[in-house]
Amino acid sequence: QASSDRQAPAAPSVTVLAGPTAVGKGTVSTFVRDHYPQVWLSVSATTRKPRPGEVEGVHYFFVTDEEFDRMVGAGEMLEWAVVHNSYRYGTPRAKVMKAVGDGRKVLLEIDLQGARQVRESMPEAQFVFLAPPTWEDLVARLTGRGTETPEEQRVRLETAKIELAAESEFDHTVINDRVEAAAAALVELMGLDPTPNAS
Ligand code: 5GP
Repeated sequence: QASSDRQAPAAPSVTVLAGPTAVGKGTVSTFVRDHYPQVWLSVSATTRKPRPGEVEGVHYFFVTDEEFDRMVGAGEMLEWAVVHNSYRYGTPRAKVMKAVGDGRKVLLEIDLQGARQVRESMPEAQFVFLAPPTWEDLVARLTGRGTETPEEQRVRLETAKIELAAESEFDHTVINDRVEAAAAALVELMGLDPTPNAS
């Protein structure tokens, strides 16, 4: 009965979560950060301004265009992209490598362009696509959020249509029906106990 004794392959240290705009990547990854202390959620740098309630170093590192240029020029970004034709977002490489070195399970919540760059530079990572239950659900989430102008919403819906077609590039899909269930499915793919607050 050798097959039943065989260990499942170890889950990769780095997991990239991507998916269309407004699918709830931020909500799922925040839930994971708050309920699964075994997971280290990467904090991105961005040139956009903080929204009310966002905290420097927790939600993002809010940087100037000049500082972002410097980080890119110095090769400090694992990946970076202009998202929704507006601001730049990037993953500081050193912090990710340190967390990997410390033996942490690392989660990156980034857009599709960034996921493709990580696929090139870190092929050993695993790539998880967060999908909406339906297209109508995605439209409702995007228009109901109320943080974007109608023009910004139009741009984001166009982007979302293109992004939905990229699902086949990913290793796994998690459907974001309920945040708790999606988070548990993601954590299980990371090779961790999916019970919240287990350590
Ligand atoms: P928001 O401005 O709503 O916080 O985020 C907008 C988009 O930026 C989201 O789709 C999010 O996945 C993406 N994003 C956040 N951080 C990064 C990053 O470090 N790299 C890339 N490529 N995209 C990011």
